[in-house]
Amino acid sequence: MSAPESVCVFDLDHTLVNSPLDLRAVGREMEAFIRARGATVPERELRWSGAELLGLVRQDAAHLEDELMQIPRRHERAAMAEAILEPFAREALAAMKQLGYATAIWTNNDRVVADFVLGRFELGAHLDLVVTRDEMTALKPHPDGLRVVRERWPAADRIVMVGDSWVDGAAAQAGGIPFIRYRGHPEAYSALASSLEASVSARGEC
Ligand SMILES: [Mg+2]
Repeated sequence: MSAPESVCVFDLDHTLVNSPLDLRAVGREMEAFIRARGATVPERELRWSGAELLGLVRQDAAHLEDELMQIPRRHERAAMAEAILEPFAREALAAMKQLGYATAIWTNNDRVVADFVLGRFELGAHLDLVVTRDEMTALKPHPDGLRVVRERWPAADRIVMVGDSWVDGAAAQAGGIPFIRYRGHPEAYSALASSLEASVSARGEC
């Protein structure tokens, strides 16, 4: 069998399935935990995402990481038990396969949650690769998950990302692949644009 030359990478939550996971609540609880343990979370206007808070802890208070990550794990497992399938998600995956694309998931969820929900909705048969945070060195918006995709298909000449969240768009951009926004909230992308402009000017890049 020849290796596929095109790969379509999907986010999971709010793209293929919908769970009541409240990422803001997760982030707030993580931030409160870090502060309560005496570690520093710098003040800023834009809210800190869970991935960024994990990055701060890894950098400055690595001994808190295991306990910190119990917060998203608890929220995710409860939310995925309540998840529903996004309309036509299975058909969309099957259609991409029919078009000759390899299909992958790139999710910040962990392996247990991803396997649970993919099994429950019988999506696994339509997927060639599932990249969870267990395989990444850093969460989206960091592009490390794309490294795992590229390792699987080193000859792929076309990789595209589909996701609902600004972190998906930022991760795709950081990884140098096109991004297709599925639903999502325009105001979140405005926040992303401001944040990217700020980080680019802070690094002195153009
Ligand atoms: Mg999502």
